[in-house]
Amino acid sequence: MRAISRHKLHGVMEMHLRFLRRRVGGLFCIIGFAIVLTYFILLFHTPNRQTMLQSESMRTLIIDPGHGGEDGGAVASDGTLEADVNLQIALRLRALAEFCGVPVVMTRDSSMIDYPTDAGTIAARKVADQKQRVALINSVEHGTLISIHQNFYPAAGPHGAEALYAPTEHSEEFGKRLHNLLLETLDPSNRRVASPISDEIYLMRNVRCPAVLVECGFLSNPEELERLQSNTYDQKLALVMLSAWLQYFQTGWNL
Ligand SMILES: [Zn+2]
Repeated sequence: MRAISRHKLHGVMEMHLRFLRRRVGGLFCIIGFAIVLTYFILLFHTPNRQTMLQSESMRTLIIDPGHGGEDGGAVASDGTLEADVNLQIALRLRALAEFCGVPVVMTRDSSMIDYPTDAGTIAARKVADQKQRVALINSVEHGTLISIHQNFYPAAGPHGAEALYAPTEHSEEFGKRLHNLLLETLDPSNRRVASPISDEIYLMRNVRCPAVLVECGFLSNPEELERLQSNTYDQKLALVMLSAWLQYFQTGWNL
């Protein structure tokens, strides 16, 4: 008899708890939605949106479209240059970032590169270009670098984006966040993991800020090449990169 009463009591309590959970859960949803809405209203109705973000320690997004000038990077079977794909994605990322009031610095914003006049060979010009980029990146206070590249493999099979992070402080957290967001939103079947970048990449080895190099996809894979040539996919890639940066910015890792 007592067991039945306890059972009934449990039932009633469970019912009340379920009801409370629904009410409290709903309340949190409403509060959460209100916070997000207020954030965006403030962000987009502040007379100078840039001032709002800059006032919080002047963080700058540095975008590095890999290669350029005399260095086309990898070349797809149809002649598409990696340098051009990198630039298209980078320009989209800059446009989105500036729309959100994020201060942006680009290491290049066209296919041309100003080489020093004393760099006499292609090899010397490539080295000079990398040194110029590192000097520019290291001159930015409170910067975070996203370097944009495309992968290439002798066989057509390999595909999928991956983020490679620099050995500098906070790069690993930022790289993993960006990588996971790329997989979750654009390619859930991708089994790659974010990894530390090779010591051989001069730029990533010499920058001092948090830095991630994104290999957006393989130019050697025909389906991925087609996707990377589409404006819609480039826009999605840029949006994911900006979202990862905004999440990173909000967590305060860079303070
Ligand atoms: Zn590259």
